[in-house]
Amino acid sequence: MTLKSRIAALIAAQGPMSVAQFMTIALLDPRDGYYATRDPIGAKTDDKHGDFITAPEISQMFGEMLGLWLVQAWADQGCPKNPRLVELGPGRGTLMADILRTAAVAPDFLADLEVVLVEASPVLQQVQAETLRGGEDGRMAADISWQHQFDHSLADRPLFLVANEFFDALPVRQYVRTERGWCERMVTLDGAGELTFALAPVPAPPGLVPADRAGAPLGGVYETAPASLALAEEIAAVIAAKGGAALLVDYGYEAALGFSETLQAVSGHRFAEALAEPGADDLSAHVDFAALAQAGRRGGATVLGPVTQGLFLAGIGLTDRAGQLIKANPDSADSVIAATERLIGHDQMGRLFKALAFLPPSISGAAGFTP
Ligand code: SAH
Repeated sequence: MTLKSRIAALIAAQGPMSVAQFMTIALLDPRDGYYATRDPIGAKTDDKHGDFITAPEISQMFGEMLGLWLVQAWADQGCPKNPRLVELGPGRGTLMADILRTAAVAPDFLADLEVVLVEASPVLQQVQAETLRGGEDGRMAADISWQHQFDHSLADRPLFLVANEFFDALPVRQYVRTERGWCERMVTLDGAGELTFALAPVPAPPGLVPADRAGAPLGGVYETAPASLALAEEIAAVIAAKGGAALLVDYGYEAALGFSETLQAVSGHRFAEALAEPGADDLSAHVDFAALAQAGRRGGATVLGPVTQGLFLAGIGLTDRAGQLIKANPDSADSVIAATERLIGHDQMGRLFKALAFLPPSISGAAGFTP
């Protein structure tokens, strides 16, 4: 039975499901979910199966810059003992490998560092373990363990956390403005038994859609990611209480988005229809950075940004690093320049992607976030 027919059977038995529930099943169903069953990350050219490519896979410079930023944040706080380095959704493990290699500039940071990878997919946990099993003896590059989700076991030490293209994979709920009020968009079955979108007949309770949305036109959509916001607040609260820093990088928008939705399906580097192939296509939504920043403040952290990825990476020295790499290996010049352009170019990832940081309330600034 395909995942699509299992979802259809579930809806037939229990009634329509929210877009968030559909997204969660499509991405993480243990048997057929998109992330649960594959490594989707790869370029078009070198890997036929790749559906999308991410910044750490474009160039080692991305992880190096983030690694230096994290080590600097640790130093700015007086080099706290027993730091914990957490990555959410580490993909192929490339970003963490680049961060750990770079963090060797601060042996005291690495000395009693505990690394935790938060990864729901058993397939990707495997890929990460292989990437991070550095050295000829096959030993791990650091004291590394895995968890399926971020939880309170990560609240007892200074928390240095990084997440690249993680929040876009978390489930969104959507509400559509109708004459009856805001009605949640659901996934249900049409007459032929195919998956389709439909609005819940009963409007959402008042207060669920924020007051600043009151002026939405009929048909306008309010999209929100409650799981993302709860997680961001929890991370911020740990950093406010124990010290540390979080760096969240993703594609998304800064100011409230008007009244449109952003759920999208991608397969083989092309857009697809969201309900067409649950489990086979990637599903994601743009990250609402204004809401994420607000959640960080609710958690008690200093929130810096969002700034565009281009400004952030240039601000922390990515172009200097590119120059160094080219000097060390002139033959690499073309590929280093292409990667730099891809990461910070306005029309590439530089503007669509944003960086947001959480720091303890005692800290007021950090590299890359100066206006
Ligand atoms: N950060 C990586 C991978 C991004 S893809 C990179 O930049 O290359 C998203 C990652 O988040 C994958 O590793 C996926 O398996 C993981 N993921 C998605 N939803 C998750 C969830 N709810 N809990 C834990 N991990 C999740």
